[in-house]
Amino acid sequence: MGTTKYIFVTGGVSSSLGKGIIAASLAKLLQARGYRVAIQKLDPYINVDPGTLNPYEHGECYVTDDGAETDLDLGHYERFLNVPTSQANNVTTGRIYQSVIEKERRGEFLGKTVQVIPHITNEIKERIQILGNSGDYDIVITEIGGTVGDIESLPYIESVRQLKWELGNGNTLFIHLTLIPYLSAARELKTKPTQHSVKTLMESGIQADILVCRTEHELSEDLRAKLALFCNVEKDAVIESIDASTIYDVPNMMLEEGLDRIALRKLHLDQNVQPNLEQWNNFLQRHKNPKGNVRVGLIGKYVELQDSYKSILEAFIHAGATNEVAVEVVSIHSEFIDTKNIENELKGLDGILVAPGFGERGIEGKIEAVRYARENDLPFLGICLGMQMAVIEYARNILGLKGANSTEMDVNTPYPVIDLMEEQKHITKKGGTMRLGAWKCDLKEGSIVSGIYQKQSILERHRHRYEYNNKYRDLLENAGLKATGINPDTGLVEIVEIPAHPWFVGVQYHPEYKSTVANPHPLFVGFVAAAFKHSKQ
Ligand code: GLN
Repeated sequence: MGTTKYIFVTGGVSSSLGKGIIAASLAKLLQARGYRVAIQKLDPYINVDPGTLNPYEHGECYVTDDGAETDLDLGHYERFLNVPTSQANNVTTGRIYQSVIEKERRGEFLGKTVQVIPHITNEIKERIQILGNSGDYDIVITEIGGTVGDIESLPYIESVRQLKWELGNGNTLFIHLTLIPYLSAARELKTKPTQHSVKTLMESGIQADILVCRTEHELSEDLRAKLALFCNVEKDAVIESIDASTIYDVPNMMLEEGLDRIALRKLHLDQNVQPNLEQWNNFLQRHKNPKGNVRVGLIGKYVELQDSYKSILEAFIHAGATNEVAVEVVSIHSEFIDTKNIENELKGLDGILVAPGFGERGIEGKIEAVRYARENDLPFLGICLGMQMAVIEYARNILGLKGANSTEMDVNTPYPVIDLMEEQKHITKKGGTMRLGAWKCDLKEGSIVSGIYQKQSILERHRHRYEYNNKYRDLLENAGLKATGINPDTGLVEIVEIPAHPWFVGVQYHPEYKSTVANPHPLFVGFVAAAFKHSKQ
């Protein structure tokens, strides 16, 4: 294999067309043909990373092993490819400028005026090539966030235009994802917005090689021919991307449309090896033919926006397929749960997941939901803040520590059973300063989790500032809430369980980030199995 090939994915006409899914699907097909593929996302916003963004703004913040707080599209990349991503897979305008300005202060451009071209564009090009230069990948797919024509994305478009010439013929490929709207009054699909968006891209010096057209209706041969003619692409490079019932169908749909074959042809790469999608299709088969179903409640405060809990929802799909059951996730707003309506809100559920989160809003509802699950022998999984709420609930209702809380919610609580981590106490900056990324955790023999993981030691991803307060450990353990996962270096309690309950587990880390199609997360698999068992009782 020679030099790394680069595929750039841009979007036109509208946002939210699913560039991430198209990029991940193409990557999956290329990987299934034996190529080593990486995907990268360039985000045009000025935040250094999405870690400081409210989930309502930007959906879930995804966390990598090396502790990068990233765009949720990286979650799709990992779920599809089963290859971990890192800091290098997500680049933002904020990070680019931060790095260029730091270089300027160090005097690296001494005597020169620092400008968008070439300084910002050089920095972008460098970041794009980090993955390729590692020698680990044959093909790097780079998704450019935003929509062509946005002011913010111009430096990225300019950078990839330059790269096309620097890397030489046949080494780069441009895929443009657009929307073909359907006018129901005219009963017609319309190509004009796509023509305009391809033209806008051309004004920046880039000719799209492949058009991927999002549509609610099939594209006729005539329409494909028209798009090819007006947009200057070959007819078989007009790819239909019709709405799918699940994102996991998209790789097969793209295979049928020939997206991978055409991409390889244009990059002068071998197209003869057929993709091996056996494992993928096996998963799809189980996902689509469930033998039963379970209803789990997702108790959170960002439930209005599905993207806020993206990885959790996907992890349920993977775990459902493994168990051959359909998992119906019922989103329940924690802010509206109280002692009076809890029975009504949570009845009929086979399991309860209390979600991660920050701040005070909605936490009393979360604590009530924990109590309900504990008292009714309902399978319970608490993630991060959800685990912390389980500890608070136990302290208040079993130990009788009235007013027990996390110091995040109440600095003056008489019983700070969850407290700020020691190393966090001197930190004042908010960006990138939490306990992030993969940390080790040793599992107690004979616990639910050691049975689930079938391991003694695990590595899981974190994103938090507060922790279980070890001063209360003896009290809590003696009363029946066991600490079954411990960080070997710091003694931090990572997992709590109630052995007297059918399935009650709280984890300080985020298992959802590591669930993939090829490797459904064991905790979700175990939780769904417990919920299924409950549903049959
Ligand atoms: N707010 C809590 C903390 O910082 C939990 C964070 C989370 O749920 N990701 O510790």
